[in-house]
Amino acid sequence: MVTKTATAERLLIGGSWVRSRGESYPLYNPYDGSELAHIPMATPEEVEDAVRAASEAFAVTEVTPAHERARRLNATADFIARDREVLGRTIAAEAGKALKYALAEADRGEQTFRFAAEEAKRIQGETVPMDAGRGAENRMGFWIRVPKGPVAAISPFNFPLNLVAHKVAPALAAGNSVVLKPASATPLTAFHLGRLLVEAGFPAGSVNILTGKGSVVGDALVSDSRIAVVSFTGSPAVGRGILARAGLKRVILELGSNSAVVVAADADFAKVFPAVVNAAYANSGQVCLSVQRLYVHQSRWREFVERFLAATEALVVGDPLDPATDVGPMISQAEAERAESWIEEAVQAGAQVLVGGTRKGAVVQPTVLVGVRPEMKVMCREVFAPVVSLVPFTDLDEAFGMVNDSPYGLQAGIFTESLDTAFAAVRALRVGGIMVNDTSNYRVDHMPYGGVKGSGLGREGPHFAVEEMTDLKMVVLNL
Ligand code: NAP
Repeated sequence: MVTKTATAERLLIGGSWVRSRGESYPLYNPYDGSELAHIPMATPEEVEDAVRAASEAFAVTEVTPAHERARRLNATADFIARDREVLGRTIAAEAGKALKYALAEADRGEQTFRFAAEEAKRIQGETVPMDAGRGAENRMGFWIRVPKGPVAAISPFNFPLNLVAHKVAPALAAGNSVVLKPASATPLTAFHLGRLLVEAGFPAGSVNILTGKGSVVGDALVSDSRIAVVSFTGSPAVGRGILARAGLKRVILELGSNSAVVVAADADFAKVFPAVVNAAYANSGQVCLSVQRLYVHQSRWREFVERFLAATEALVVGDPLDPATDVGPMISQAEAERAESWIEEAVQAGAQVLVGGTRKGAVVQPTVLVGVRPEMKVMCREVFAPVVSLVPFTDLDEAFGMVNDSPYGLQAGIFTESLDTAFAAVRALRVGGIMVNDTSNYRVDHMPYGGVKGSGLGREGPHFAVEEMTDLKMVVLNL
């Protein structure tokens, strides 16, 4: 919870809120620079304590009945709903997310826990027709799913509640224990969730929360042989490093993208607007699914650009805690300066800014670029800022080719009234999810979610995350 006086936060290890023996760092509100809290930087001994606590607690969690795991997950969801306002304001204060989106994230976090509670009750196996193999006629066989072991959950700053929920809730649903390392920029929401998990009755050591530098605390977790699963959401560079160091454990990587949306000649603009505008600028474009590249059929170009610019200019930019705000600051001034330099670089190489393009502190004005080329950073890398590039096309195959011309492949969107065109996109686009008459940014929390190519490995969504976090155990009866 955010207080007027900065609080000294504690680590959650083995069921106790522990005052760290290490240093701490000040956490600031990225919009007004006010100090929110002092955050501990876990020492190597505290990382060891947390991993040991999670390993010992696994002996308890793996035998906890499904109905009890589900009850606790549902209780956590109840508490998230009860604390919606506090959670929303905490997210807005530490992440700079506009309050309306922060409250929506609290609602999604509640739902993610409920989906996980339901999954806890349907972790099923299957029989195997053993007699299909010669010589196995008298065998009966079936497989069951068992929890894999302690999960290291490493989360990014942009969804401080729901992306933590997508790791912690399925891990607990599956009967695992967890060590959570939230992003250094957004630990307060994670600590609040930790208090709710304790209140919901999860046993000591089943959920541990460590803060501190990812390159120290995160790295120590990833390299520890007692950790069975690393569930990471974050940048592609860090994800690649984790995969290289993790060794023999399950690694789930939800990484970035430079997501694209195609607006076909027959698109219904009542469906296109305001969806594309919200999907480009929500959370200042700091969403892995943000619309970054918009390919618009030449026949609709003028009308589209006119409406897109008008809607962009109408956005309210400012204090994230003001309920009227649409777009708040980016996570830091350094990140905003990085985005500004990418815009400048594109302009120097021939792009034009139609609206926005300016920065004040950590706030980047929603920006529309045209005249871009594929090799510009704003096109080929993940911009992760309120910056969108509009590109006209004449031929659908050409548009699909441009969408696929990316090292990433998380989700893509297409607006069309034709089923043929929709299915052509489904066939052609190399992504983890295709949204027809929605943007790349569309997600419901129980669907399988994840990318191909440089966007990662594995899938989230509680049902799919539970699969990733369990092992198959085969049983054969010789009768
Ligand atoms: P990040 O810098 O990669 O950090 C993510 C997490 O990894 C943080 O907790 C970070 O800790 C930790 N970390 C950093 N270095 C580490 C290391 N060497 N070993 C282990 N952990 C380490 O990402 P971010 O800036 O927070 O988030 C933005 C990125 O996340 C974007 O690329 C975005 O596309 C991606 N993302 C993807 C999805 C998806 O579902 N596909 C969803 C949301 C965001 P510190 O904070 O202490 O550095």
